[in-house]
Amino acid sequence: MRKQLWIGGQWREAKAYTELKAPYRGNNIVEVPAANEEETAAAIEVAHRMCGVMRRIPAHERAAILERVALLLADRKEEAARIIAEEAAKPMKYALSEVERTVQTYKFAAEEAKRISGETIPLDAAPGGEGRIAYTVREPIGVIGAITPFNFPMNLVAHKVGPAIAAGNTVVLKPASQTPMSAYFIAELFHEAGLPSGVLNVVTGSGAIVGNKIVLDERVAMVTFTGSPEVGKSLRAKAGLKRVTLELGSNAALIIDQDADIERIVPRCVMGAFANQGQVCISLQRIYVHEHIYESFVEQFAEAASKLKVGDPLEMESDISAMISPAETNRALAWILEASSNGATVLTGGELQNGMLAPTVITGADPGMKVSCQELFAPVVIISKVTSVNEAIALVNASKFGLQAGIYTNDLGTALQAADELHVGGVMINDIPTFRVDHMPYGGVKESGTGREGLKYAVEEMTELKLVVINRGNY
Ligand code: NAP
Repeated sequence: MRKQLWIGGQWREAKAYTELKAPYRGNNIVEVPAANEEETAAAIEVAHRMCGVMRRIPAHERAAILERVALLLADRKEEAARIIAEEAAKPMKYALSEVERTVQTYKFAAEEAKRISGETIPLDAAPGGEGRIAYTVREPIGVIGAITPFNFPMNLVAHKVGPAIAAGNTVVLKPASQTPMSAYFIAELFHEAGLPSGVLNVVTGSGAIVGNKIVLDERVAMVTFTGSPEVGKSLRAKAGLKRVTLELGSNAALIIDQDADIERIVPRCVMGAFANQGQVCISLQRIYVHEHIYESFVEQFAEAASKLKVGDPLEMESDISAMISPAETNRALAWILEASSNGATVLTGGELQNGMLAPTVITGADPGMKVSCQELFAPVVIISKVTSVNEAIALVNASKFGLQAGIYTNDLGTALQAADELHVGGVMINDIPTFRVDHMPYGGVKESGTGREGLKYAVEEMTELKLVVINRGNY
């Protein structure tokens, strides 16, 4: 099977194609366009031309299109989940939950389309401002270049395309090379839902060619990027005066205070650490446990982790499957080896099971080891003993990342102290840092990025504030 480029509401033949391999079986799934600069420019041109059409579509119509996409996707949930499971090796149970979340994301986008508003400004608050009425409106920004990662190929596309359409923009979408099919699938649903041709264009190909062209092209008004800090930083340096939103990586941490109920929280922590093979930007990577309950937490956590089923992503029972590529698996193995050969203990996992990295639990890792201070993005978690919440907060904050953090405590004062002192984009009290629902403001500080997603917040980023001042007379 061969997929073509989706430009101007039509499938277009590309000059070159690459084979897309399934990470689990290693078989070729489909041939996908590897677009060049000219093909990317053609998509940008169409999107640019459609800006005028799109900004005249009323909010209720934009909302109706997004509602229809949500309905169409809900109807084809299983099919959509299989696409994700195949191209990203995301176990079916998680792929299905991603599709359910994607439906929610488009529903929220539909609702947000109707709420875009400005405010009135009391100009007479300043001497010389009398006799005038002032108000602001939020206008579409224009062509949005959306560049997305492999790990949530449908919902993270929705977090860009949903608010962009809600706000009346046009889009050139470049999905990750490993997950093009989820993006093409969504483009078809938008077409079926009545989105005018050329408003959403999908161009697959390498980041260095397609992504780079999107970032450099003058006609693109904003780049919204989710991916690794390295690429995010390089892209921002090239983007000039374009608006740029960066949703980047993390090594998310959880603090467990001495009064936490271990039995209740262990299953949730295991899910947060290993869902989607740990390839989640807010995957639970570092756990800091109070010394009073450390031993029993470690024992119960490692036991639960070792029971996870490693297998075929298309089987509902699988908890864990292949990482996105053998290179990524080898990177994670090398980092585990660095930790173990420098004194850390691998309690469970640390090796391949039928070619897949088994869920891995490490204790005694130093803060300077890669497993502690870099983004692991693998089914690996480190657990460390702390003597106080203060010590844990300092360790969490010592990271170069700051996306979300969590704390389990029954002490209100401690919870509020953590809320005040943790330097991250979101603090989850009595939950794992992995908690996310799709309308909440979401984004990071430090190397975790700039800007916020979550529909309302993304719409703000994707609109331009315009001021109108009316002089009532005396001009
Ligand atoms: P990645 O390698 O940075 O790729 C992300 C996207 O950028 C892909 O579409 C990639 O294309 C493209 N790209 C690569 N080089 C580029 C360049 N020079 N110019 C423009 N675009 C370029 O990230 P990934 O491995 O797919 O995803 C994992 C990362 O995403 C992790 O760091 C994770 O934490 C982060 N993430 C963050 C969030 C969040 O909301 N904060 C959510 C999910 C993931 P190719 O695929 O063709 O290389």
